[in-house]
Order: sequence, then structure tokens, then C-alpha cells
Amino acid sequence: MTIGRLFVISAPSGAGKTTLLSHVMARIPGLVFSVSHTTRLPRPGERDGIDYHFVGRDEFHSMIEQGRFLEYAEVHGNLYGTSQAAIRQQLEEGIDVVLDIDVQGAAILRNSGQMDAASIFISPPSMAELEKRLRGRGTESEERVRLRMKNARQELQAVEQYEYLIINEDLADAADLLAAVILAERARAHRLPSGKPIEKSVTE
Ligand code: ADP
Ligand code: 5GP
Repeated sequence: MTIGRLFVISAPSGAGKTTLLSHVMARIPGLVFSVSHTTRLPRPGERDGIDYHFVGRDEFHSMIEQGRFLEYAEVHGNLYGTSQAAIRQQLEEGIDVVLDIDVQGAAILRNSGQMDAASIFISPPSMAELEKRLRGRGTESEERVRLRMKNARQELQAVEQYEYLIINEDLADAADLLAAVILAERARAHRLPSGKPIEKSVTE
């Protein structure tokens, strides 16, 4: 059995990452979404254990102390983290795992050298469209929309740290492109099935 491939996907809030991922995950078999822990309150329709593990700050801090997070970060005033348990078992079972994490978490993972991942950045076509989508979603207060827009300007600067950029203008086109990237990554011939680059010794 080969181990699964890890995908790190980041985007400014409201760019359409959740929408895109739900389209793409439904059509690519053998791909799962890593369920993060967060101290944010659930939005209407979000389910505990499916969208996130919703926990209190005390529980989150005790998980930090126990070293249970592969990465965690404070984003828009709430804590978010990826637990080791959320992904290691699936990767070991040969399942490809998608991490929907912010630019800080992606940098922690990249710099840790612990895990090799294909990184994808999803961008809105413009700041005006981003604001329209954030407001249109109707989940954030005026203050939270402003905070997310302010943070988006910073997050967009991290784009060059990612291997792939998908501009989510037309949803169907962006979903096709995201699916193509994921499938192409699975087929990369110069990588081992584990996702690691093939070492020279293998080819000698
Ligand atoms: P994110 O997960 O990145 O915060 P969402 O997936 O919740 O963003 O999308 C934010 C809002 O924008 C939602 O109301 C969604 O329906 C809408 N949206 C997503 N992609 C597009 C698109 N390509 N064109 C227009 N609206 C979109
Ligand atoms: P939202 O509150 O809109 O669901 O997510 C806000 C931000 O938190 C998004 O940028 C999302 O990618 C990020 N996020 C979600 N889960 C994690 C995680 O486990 N770790 C990190 N670092 N960021 C996360």
C-alpha cells in the first residue's frame, strides 16, 4: 500500500474555497477533507465533527500542550488547528488528504519539513468581488467583514509561496482547474507514490 498525498489549500475568507472544495471532493474519489479544530462558533448549517471540531479555548490550549497539533494559528480572532490524528491515519491508509488552512498554518507546515504537500492558493478575481461574496454569504457581522477584508490584503501577499494559483472567477472553470491540479499531482512521475521526490539513489 502506498501512502496518500497531502494537499494544502489556502485562500482569503470569502474567495470560495469551501464551495470549490465541495464541488471537487464530490467528483474525485479517494480524497478526504481534514476536519480542523476551531474555537470559532458554528455558522448556521455547520455540523460538529464534519465541518470542524468546535471546541472551547481551554480544550484547544490543552491540545496544544499535549502536542496534538501538526500546526495551529490564530485567524480572524479565533484559533484553528490541524490535529495529527486527523491526517496521519488517512495518509497511512493511502487516502489523499486536503488541508484547508490559512497562510500562517501553511507556512508552519512548509517550514517544519515534516510533511511534503502540494500547495494551492485560491484567489478571488478582485477585492470588490471578494467583499461582495463575503457580504453575500451573510455569515459575518460588519466588523467581521472588515477584519476579513483587511486580513485578505495580507494573505494575498503569500500567493508566491504556493505551487498553484487558481483564480475563482467562474465557479465551474475554477472547479475544473482545481480537479485537474489534484489529478495531475497524483500522476507526477518524478515523485514516489508517497509524494516524496524520488532520490537519486533510486534511479542509479
Ligand atoms: P470561503 O470558504 O473561501 O470562505 P465560500 O465558499 O463560503 O468561501 O464562498 C463565499 C461566498 O461566495 C458564498 O456565498 C459562495 O456561494 C460564493 N461563491 C463562491 N464561489 C463563487 C463564484 N465563482 N462566483 C460567485 N460566487 C461564488
Ligand atoms: P472560516 O472561519 O471561514 O471557516 O475559516 C477561516 C480561516 O481559517 C480560513 O482561512 C481557513 O483556511 C482557516 N483554517 C481552517 N482550519 C484551519 C486549520 O486547521 N489551521 C489553520 N492554520 N487555519 C485553518
